[in-house]
Amino acid sequence: MTSKVRFAPSPTGLLHVGNARTALINALFAVAGEGQFLLRFDDTDRERSRDEFASAVEEDLRWMGLAWDSCVRQRDHIANYQAALARLRDVGRVYPCWETPEELEYKRKRQLARGRPPIYDRAALKLSVAERARLEAEGRRPHWRFLLEPGSLAWDDLVRGRVELQADHMSDPIVVRADGTFLYMLPSAIDDIEFHVTCVIRGEDHVANTAVQIQMFRALGSEPPAFAHLPLLTDIAGKGLSKRLGSMTVRSLREDGIEPLALASYLARLGTGDAPHPAGSLSELARNFDMSRYGRATPKFDESQLARVNAQVLHSASWRTMQPRLAALGLTHANESFWNAVRDNLERLGDVQDWYDVCFGDITVGAIDAALADQAAASLPSEPWDGATWQDWTQAIRKATGRKGRDLFLPLRLALTGRQHGPELRELLPLIGRRVVQQRLRTAAGVRAPTPANLGL
Ligand code: GLU
Repeated sequence: MTSKVRFAPSPTGLLHVGNARTALINALFAVAGEGQFLLRFDDTDRERSRDEFASAVEEDLRWMGLAWDSCVRQRDHIANYQAALARLRDVGRVYPCWETPEELEYKRKRQLARGRPPIYDRAALKLSVAERARLEAEGRRPHWRFLLEPGSLAWDDLVRGRVELQADHMSDPIVVRADGTFLYMLPSAIDDIEFHVTCVIRGEDHVANTAVQIQMFRALGSEPPAFAHLPLLTDIAGKGLSKRLGSMTVRSLREDGIEPLALASYLARLGTGDAPHPAGSLSELARNFDMSRYGRATPKFDESQLARVNAQVLHSASWRTMQPRLAALGLTHANESFWNAVRDNLERLGDVQDWYDVCFGDITVGAIDAALADQAAASLPSEPWDGATWQDWTQAIRKATGRKGRDLFLPLRLALTGRQHGPELRELLPLIGRRVVQQRLRTAAGVRAPTPANLGL
């Protein structure tokens, strides 16, 4: 049997890094095992689900480089859920309840006050026909609960190992609201059966749901799939990331200049014990993928580590992959020599603009000793320039001025780039070109274009 996994976000917000990691691990699992990857939108909550969020999630997943074999929306499968619900009702595994949220809350508080666990008391099962009729006559519509069988539930989790939970300690979950809409739990199990999902990989916030869903699979006549529950990410202080939802979406990282491959490399290795470092491609991540490397320890999402991986990704990115990106930024003069010269100086791709201006645009240069600037200008070789020009030029200046080392190179760097650090001048020089180098040396020596101020007006 081919393996099949699914990523099942609820389209109620933007894709969060935690969910992006779940999506990525599902996708890598599928590719590594030559299985299938299903994207499923859990959008039965009509109030909170939005098409814009579903489209945004798809766009963010694509941006990360992920692809799926098919995509389904739960709202297109309501008839299936209703049919399954009817089957469960016929065999007594779901039952109607009429309590209002206030009544349930009151029961809960009373149980807690008596030191008892707040488990639903199944009062609805004890109602007589007449009592039910009276509630219906009051205009109440029932919600439906799934009847849990007592006893223990166990599975061998691919991340957590053997997990065992007691159904006796759980409330029968509500599966259908009074307005007839389905909650997450049952449709998820129905779809996992319908779409032949063989392994459910999701966050450990779903561990208790798994115990319930295992009973649902069986009640629906199916064997449950395998399960893998990944620990939820926290920030470096150990706080849940969801508390900082706005600042930790894939969208915000993307807007912040994080490369998709950096995010994927970082997220895929988080929690495996591997030091963060970039992969050459998603295929490489898939080739090295091993589910058993994900442990139970809480992975900490560290933005500074991600930033480092991001820089490393840029430093080794080829001109071929970056050409369209630079074109999209409107950097029309950028070419392979430019990219190779500057890439090691980038932390985010956006930093490239500064170096582009150094090579092809206008910059503010640093002031340097006028005699040196004059001599440097006088020593400029004629064009064409190449990688050897820098050495010829600086040797000539050294001979003429006696300056060497930092005394020579720092002023030249300041005059040509306006900065104390940056890419190799040897590589920048031919990109800047003789005419502009000459201009900058003049400006650095204090010869300014006439302005009302320096003309004394
Ligand atoms: N919609 C659920 C969530 O986003 C899916 C959980 C699951 O993978 O079953 O948490």
